[in-house]
Amino acid sequence: MMNDRIETPFFILQKISNGVYAAIAKKGEGAWSNSGFVDLGTELVVFDSFSTPAAARELRNIAEEMTGKKVKYLVNSHYHGDHVFGNQVFEDTTILSTSLTRNLFKERNILREVETEREEMTKYLQDLQNQIENSIDDVIKLSIQNQYNEMNKIYEAVQELKMVYPTVTFEEKLVIHGTQRSVEVYALGGGHTPCDTIMYVPQEKVAFMGDLLTEGIHFPIYNPIDFIDIVNKIKTMDLDIVIPGHGNVATLELCETVLKYLKDMVTKAKEAIDSNHTMQDFQSSFTMQEPYSKWLGQNGINRNLETVYMFLRNS
Ligand SMILES: [Zn+2]
Repeated sequence: MMNDRIETPFFILQKISNGVYAAIAKKGEGAWSNSGFVDLGTELVVFDSFSTPAAARELRNIAEEMTGKKVKYLVNSHYHGDHVFGNQVFEDTTILSTSLTRNLFKERNILREVETEREEMTKYLQDLQNQIENSIDDVIKLSIQNQYNEMNKIYEAVQELKMVYPTVTFEEKLVIHGTQRSVEVYALGGGHTPCDTIMYVPQEKVAFMGDLLTEGIHFPIYNPIDFIDIVNKIKTMDLDIVIPGHGNVATLELCETVLKYLKDMVTKAKEAIDSNHTMQDFQSSFTMQEPYSKWLGQNGINRNLETVYMFLRNS
């Protein structure tokens, strides 16, 4: 029997509705992003695999024990390591993504020799450590400390880490037909990365959003205009509950926060470009409004401002 809530060292597994479970990452413990699974009736489908094999293994074990069913599919929402570095735990299942995500995965997630990886990561961690020590702003300090903790868990996993790519690819839409419920996997375009996928459970009106919806972090932006269009499209879906890529389980109201963030950046970048302000001026004059002034991923702000400014200037 399933409790409605199970806490592990990596995540909190929450029953969302019949057959739908969200695994909400605990900060800095080796999960980094959210995952979850759906009971299709005779087998399970998992959505995203966390940032370490250890966290992924924990989820798989609990899911299979609890339901008495095996994982048959893993869906990768996008290629970012914090969502796919646990893939190796699902090597015996069918790993699904769009063809573009698979290409990006192979191109960008390259694992070198263990020693080389460790050396590089040690430098990176040292750099974060220096930033923490030199920072006088508590919000920034907390944010970099969190980045450090998450990266450190990947560092500890490097010895066993192996890149396992999706084995079956699709383009816009894929439906997995279960005996009790089905899931619909949609590639909604490129907002957060060049290709972002969600998994929708129509019968329960729940969806796993990947990083198209997140809570409390400066999520990286790939294409601000398409991102806004995608979130507007998500708003029209028949959904009671959304499971964001980061942060807590939410409703479609989370769309408004994400839209506000994106629109604010776009509006201010347009103003800056129209007034012939340089990108550096734009970055330094941009003031963060509530609620996002306190979000994690503070070192992502300038990168996002640059992306939005350059995107609008060149379009
Ligand atoms: Zn991401």
